[in-house]
Amino acid sequence: MLDLQAQDSTLARLIHRKNSLPENTVIADLTSKAAEINNQRVEADTAVSDLTREQKKADGEVEQVRARRVRDEERMNSGQISNAKDLSNMQHEIVALNRRIATLEDEELEVMEALEEAQSKLTAVTAELAEINTALEEATAARDAKVRAIDEEARGVLAEREMIAQKVPDELTVLYDKIRKQSGGMGAAALRARRCEGCRLEINGADLRELVALPDDEVLRCPECSRILVRTLESGV
Ligand SMILES: [Zn+2]
Repeated sequence: MLDLQAQDSTLARLIHRKNSLPENTVIADLTSKAAEINNQRVEADTAVSDLTREQKKADGEVEQVRARRVRDEERMNSGQISNAKDLSNMQHEIVALNRRIATLEDEELEVMEALEEAQSKLTAVTAELAEINTALEEATAARDAKVRAIDEEARGVLAEREMIAQKVPDELTVLYDKIRKQSGGMGAAALRARRCEGCRLEINGADLRELVALPDDEVLRCPECSRILVRTLESGV
């Protein structure tokens, strides 16, 4: 009975160890970090596409105004315009077009600078995300290896437990399992120096006399915690 309890306690310890592996915390932290960085990556990616579109638009606008200027200059240089007023108007228009081109080129430059910035941000965030994902993969692999080792050990303990359980009468196993579930994992405890090792309480004289009087094949129960009490050589009676 105590051997069975020892195996069950070992199993409980293994399950606890499996659930409290430090890698689990690391994995949870890295997972939320990865989600956060991925949001940043999506934002940067959107900024790059928006600015790329804006840059194309700015390019197109500059090209359009430049083409208009070329047309005007060609007409002026062709000598087709002889009227002085028309010529003067045309000159004014070219001056205005030059100003417009300068403004558009400034805007274009600003968009290009913003685009470069967005691209380097995207590159940095993508690299950071890759780093986190690598760390996450490593932590997951380390965790999985530990879980496999614990599961392996647990299988061994479980096999041993089966062998021990076979030697215990079914009725007693059922009782033991029931108490174990109710009593935080301990269904059987040794009676040592008049003390139940389950609840650690000393059993009073009257109860002890009653317990001792029971036949050897009778299952003893702790009067305090109801656990199965296992007689030992040092029971103290
Ligand atoms: Zn007890």
